[in-house]
Formats: sequence, C-alpha cells, structure tokens
Amino acid sequence: MQEKDCLFCRIINGDIPSSKVYEDEFVYAFLDIAPGFPGHTLIVPKKHYKNILDMDAKETSHIFAAVQKIAPAMMKVTGAEGFHVLQNNNEAAGQTVFHTHFHVIPRKADDGMTLWTPTSYENKEKMLEMAQKIRNEIQ
Ligand code: AMP
Ligand code: ZN
Repeated sequence: MQEKDCLFCRIINGDIPSSKVYEDEFVYAFLDIAPGFPGHTLIVPKKHYKNILDMDAKETSHIFAAVQKIAPAMMKVTGAEGFHVLQNNNEAAGQTVFHTHFHVIPRKADDGMTLWTPTSYENKEKMLEMAQKIRNEIQ
C-alpha cells in the first residue's frame, strides 16, 4: 500500500535519496532534511497512512519500538540530554507531508526550543467540563 505521488513512499522505495538511520519490516527512519537540531529523525510506517488515525494499534506499536531503538543512539551521538517524540496530524497542526511520520528530536536543557506557550482554563469547572465532553465522545 504505497502512493506513487507521496514523498515519503518514494523515499521508502529508494526513488528519492534519504539519510537512512534505521529500517525493519514495518518502519523506515531517516534524518529530517530541515532539523530542529542535528540528529532530528523521522520514523515512518512503510505502509502509506495519511495520519495516525488511519493506523491501528499494532502499526503504531512498531513505530514506538523503533523510537526505543533509535532515540538512545541519537542521544549518544548528539550529546542530547532528552528528546521529543512529536507527530503532526492535519494541516492545522503543521502537517506538511501526508504520510504519517513521527519526529524524534534531540534536546539539551539550554537549547532554546519552545514547543507551545502555556495558557489556562477560565476556572476549574471549565476544565472539568472539557474532560467530561471528551470522555463522552470517546468510542
Ligand atoms: P511535518 O511538518 O510534521 O509534516 O513534517 C514533515 C517533515 O519532513 C519536515 O520536518 C521536513 O523538513 C521533512 N522533509 C521534507 N522533505 C524531506 C526530505 N526529502 N528528506 C527528509 N526530510 C524531509
Ligand atoms: Zn506515502
């Protein structure tokens, strides 16, 4: 299940070159061409899925098995003290390549990267109400 016009399918197939970090039966991992920091790796399922909601739990488990292999190696090589596993779904969330991918980004305590600006709920009731609404929608 690959798509001929998909950038990441073409990278997996070898039609487009990549800096491969890891590969197994289910996943392919390569360096992001525009890294947050050097070593920033993308892990993608070999099958084409548009976003994480198209994948089943088994498929996502292969990705996280790869994270647990790749991240320690990446940290060792880059001297990172931590890392993110970050995944954008849909354009509104910054997804630009519509083949599911997980960013593994090395971090150091003083590297200056900010992911979001914290906000707050109007009050505790609003927060409880939000949790209740989400619980009600979960299937
Ligand atoms: P996202 O914004 O979450 O969809 O992430 C897409 C990522 O793919 C970006 O961080 C890009 O820098 C990266 N990217 C795009 N083209 C390539 C490429 N040919 N090789 C490696 N990374 C790429
Ligand atoms: Zn694809």
